[in-house]
Amino acid sequence: MAGKTVFVTGGAGYIGSHCCVELLEAGYNVVAVDNFANSVQDDGVATALKRVEKITGKPVTFYKCDLLDRERVMKIFDQHKIDCVIHFAALKAVGESMQLPLQYYKNNLIGTINLLEAMKSTNCFDLVFSSSCCVYGDPEFLPITEEHPTGNVTNVYGRTKYFIEEMLKDLSKSDPKWNIISLRYFNPVGAHPSGLIGEDPTKEVQNVMPFIASVALGKKPHVTIFGNDYNTPDGTGVRDYIHIMDLASGHVAALKKLQTTKDLQYKVCLGRGISVLELIREFEKATGTHVPTVQGERRYGDVGTLICASKKALSELDWVYNLGTGRASSVLDLIRTFELVSQMKVPFVMKERRHGDIVSMYADTTLASEELGWQARHDVLRMCEDFWRWQTMNPNGYKSETAATNGNGIPEKTAKSAFTNGNHVNANGDGVKASNGH
Ligand code: NAD
Repeated sequence: MAGKTVFVTGGAGYIGSHCCVELLEAGYNVVAVDNFANSVQDDGVATALKRVEKITGKPVTFYKCDLLDRERVMKIFDQHKIDCVIHFAALKAVGESMQLPLQYYKNNLIGTINLLEAMKSTNCFDLVFSSSCCVYGDPEFLPITEEHPTGNVTNVYGRTKYFIEEMLKDLSKSDPKWNIISLRYFNPVGAHPSGLIGEDPTKEVQNVMPFIASVALGKKPHVTIFGNDYNTPDGTGVRDYIHIMDLASGHVAALKKLQTTKDLQYKVCLGRGISVLELIREFEKATGTHVPTVQGERRYGDVGTLICASKKALSELDWVYNLGTGRASSVLDLIRTFELVSQMKVPFVMKERRHGDIVSMYADTTLASEELGWQARHDVLRMCEDFWRWQTMNPNGYKSETAATNGNGIPEKTAKSAFTNGNHVNANGDGVKASNGH
């Protein structure tokens, strides 16, 4: 791991910044880019990544760069020896995507194509792509396995994810050097336990946890829950919430998997085949387990050497993993847990079901557990605790901090400041579709 350089797109964003912490702590170097379409900057500096450096004590190389600027992306790839890429950068607001479809298709699809071309031109073929459970559409069965049909997506944002997944499959088939994993996230929430980084979008808050927090802080009047008569334990929509640090560690697991595959691919592509013992050693290395072996007599009819056309087989392997917890929580569960943790009231109003809302969505995570050796560790209580710590230490997100950190990088605004903000303004009367994840 040490010495490997990961190129992180959208690194200043919510998931990207948390993932950078995990990558640096796992010994990777990070080169990150972002255009600040949905993240906070201080004169071209990514505030979240400055804090990542404080948490880890390690540097992040950062460029303000739009993936639509092909030349600039190419230039950055020429300046660094990039070993692998994690591609977070995307526009992700479901509602906005329906109003601005061309902007979403352009940003998400063309941005990805530019990135893939820069990778190819510098012989970098290892990619982890941020996909989403929304590619499954309205679930046909629960829990959702990776084999669940995809493509029946009802919004433009989700379709960009689906189209990119399909494009990546085509790319893998076209050239076996590509080594790609798509991770389908369920509903990431929470924050790093230090309270130093968290979710702070520059666009209007859409995700459920920041919305609940802003209601708790009096910045919004209430959460609106659409539908309380669904066939779920308390009648409200059900989702699979996953702690952001669990999601981040899933990416490190995916990178390890890519590396193992690449090693195998390299050996096989040399045309020299791989012995049973080598295969066992590779497996042990990848999984950290010991596989006991005993030497048996040769068996009549066994073939000594058989090098199959694994190049083709490997190129057609198409890796997709769900990153979720496998546990279902309702919107009300989330609100109640948040109230418990924050000791603040979160008013909510119930409204009619909305057409197209998905009732229930949670993951089967067996594949990620078996093949990546990864499992989510944190429960909803921990997600709320960590998010509330971030929120109370930074009631105005990163914007409040830039000036106000003490020598340890700990923001001077503390939990208290959240409660002394008597300015309970109704920022707008909107509720949030509190059951929808993307
Ligand atoms: P985010 O908006 O916080 O982060 C995305 C970052 O990408 C932002 O900082 C934004 O400025 C940047 N960006 C967007 N377009 C860019 C471009 N053309 N060039 C450079 N930078 C660009 O979102 P997030 O929650 O961290 O999501 C990260 C990824 O995970 C996205 O691809 C998103 O679709 C996917 N995802 C998120 C969720 C979720 O609930 N947060 C769920 C499933 C999938």
